[in-house]
Amino acid sequence: MELEPDLSLVEEGVRLILRGLGEDLGREGLRDTPSRVARMLAELTSGMRENALAHLEGAVEAPGGGLVVVRSLPFYSLCEHHLLPFFGRAHVAYLPPPGGRVAGVSKVARAVESVSKKLQVQERMTEEIATLLEGALFPEGVMVVLEAEHLCMSMRGVRKPGHLMVTAAARGRFEKDSALRREVLGLLLGRPPGD
Ligand code: ZN
Repeated sequence: MELEPDLSLVEEGVRLILRGLGEDLGREGLRDTPSRVARMLAELTSGMRENALAHLEGAVEAPGGGLVVVRSLPFYSLCEHHLLPFFGRAHVAYLPPPGGRVAGVSKVARAVESVSKKLQVQERMTEEIATLLEGALFPEGVMVVLEAEHLCMSMRGVRKPGHLMVTAAARGRFEKDSALRREVLGLLLGRPPGD
């Protein structure tokens, strides 16, 4: 695992940013800001320092098999290009082989949280979740869809508050079979794809 973050180095960086912006580091409201921001960033990047796969351990055998769909897991991440949040919902579907393994919703939610708690881009986060599910459950197919608003697009630049950026990753049978992929995508989005 990664080393613990060097909080004093992060604090120093925050002080430099504030000075660079022309702020007065001595004023009341900013007195504890560098240490507060450093601790916050350590928390928001805790996923860097853990094994996300471990969250999916203890998955149980499901004799019935059949498609498993988990919709609307909330997540909050940090865009690595701007260090601003992007946040939204993760939807996951996987098809265990007959008698294959199934993970509880809370385990999937913790795995999603783990890959969200680091400097990320939405496309990579989508792929990372798919890879985790493949690695832990060995399903015949996996699909992951992320819908998110990026504050770097809402607060600045193109200024499109309320937008949803949608990314998808399909593996195994969901990648190969386009009719099946469309069907699962519709289930995950709660609407026909393309609407
Ligand atoms: Zn960004």
